Amino acid sequence: MNSPFVEARTILDTLHQAGYEAYYVGGAVRDFLLNRQIGDIDIATSAKPVDVQHLFKHTIDVGAEHGTIIVLHNGSPYEVTTFRAEGEYVDNRRPSHVVYISSLIEDLRRRDFTINAMAMDINGKIVDYFNGKAHLSEKLIQTVGSPEERFNEDALRMLRAVRFVSQLQFTLCPKTKKAISDHAHLLKEISVERKTVEIEKLLMGVNQKQALAMIVDTNMHSYLPGLERKKDELIRLSTYDMRVLKTNIEHWSLFTNCIQPRSVEEFLRKWKLPNKLIKAVKKNIDYLTIVKEKQWSDFLLYEAGVETAVSVERLCTLMIDPKQVEGNVKRIIDRFQQLPIQSKSQLNVTGHDIIDFLKKKPGPWVSKVIFEIEKAIVAKKLENNKSAIKEWLMTCNLDFDQNY
Ligand code: ATP
Ligand code: MG
Repeated sequence: MNSPFVEARTILDTLHQAGYEAYYVGGAVRDFLLNRQIGDIDIATSAKPVDVQHLFKHTIDVGAEHGTIIVLHNGSPYEVTTFRAEGEYVDNRRPSHVVYISSLIEDLRRRDFTINAMAMDINGKIVDYFNGKAHLSEKLIQTVGSPEERFNEDALRMLRAVRFVSQLQFTLCPKTKKAISDHAHLLKEISVERKTVEIEKLLMGVNQKQALAMIVDTNMHSYLPGLERKKDELIRLSTYDMRVLKTNIEHWSLFTNCIQPRSVEEFLRKWKLPNKLIKAVKKNIDYLTIVKEKQWSDFLLYEAGVETAVSVERLCTLMIDPKQVEGNVKRIIDRFQQLPIQSKSQLNVTGHDIIDFLKKKPGPWVSKVIFEIEKAIVAKKLENNKSAIKEWLMTCNLDFDQNY
């Protein structure tokens, strides 16, 4: 067994010694069998949340009412969830109550897809009641039990199905796909936050092209924020090979750029993304718009900063000729590194120096003068040293009174 599981072994051991059952479950078991990198390790146990809290020194109660306690072990968090079935579902999205049960099989039965419904015991033996292993080798996404029922219980599962298509390069089993087409409208009830998690994983998956095409095919896009009437735009997006993109900022930038919303900010707010991400995507799209019209100038590169310049170049090239991406990005980095200065912080004068040189009262003119100095230095018309800048300021005839 590989190391993430070995790390978590002590938790299973402790639970066993106290007389409880405990297994690794869900995504980690799936990824282990697929030889993929293992993300979070989730543990299912017959111990109740209070018992888990008593057994371990460092725990965080993240949802004891749903049966989940986080156990911190060697600095890593592990979700330990009590075997549970779910009471009746309301609003196609949440069970009305949680029922603790004593059997692993019932806990696995409530899980979304057969490939996510396997458990592994402390010795590495796989528990597979629903054909998960077979579906892994057939590369098939199939619900545990009737897809209609499972999507009625929680409509998010439809979006999860397609995000696994993207991440794992699997296909939907025909019944599961048909049920998605028939029940796409149930996504209306699902919170934006849950949709955002799945779309982000979908965009970053290796098979996003097929997954996006499937979103359109099943009409799920009609129930996703800002995508209601964006079928053609999504199809266009699905023609790009996003695997060359590196960050979630770049993924959201390409996504937003293809969707062409009336307002970029409004669109991203609909997805309830963090402010920092929204700001970075907006900046990328602003520069993308400029660079589509005209080439990078040295000053444009300087203003954008290396992070934005690299992302914009990557996005821009991806849309024209994906084979050129790495070469073009490298050229941009080289050009950026050859700029006389890369940021304002490298200027060898401060606002105080400028006030002192020109013997004028402080005011908004100072930052405008700094801007002119930056332009002159980046254009290699001025050297970045204090005395050269002073002399330039004294002789360059900037019209401080009128324009500054
Ligand atoms: P990832 O690698 O992206 O974390 P994952 O399969 O671990 O994928 P999680 O969202 O972390 O996905 O969920 C952990 C497990 O919980 C799943 O493998 C599945 O067994 C179960 N699960 C998660 N969401 C649902 C859901 N909406 N309905 C039923 N079971 C679910
Ligand atoms: Mg997980």
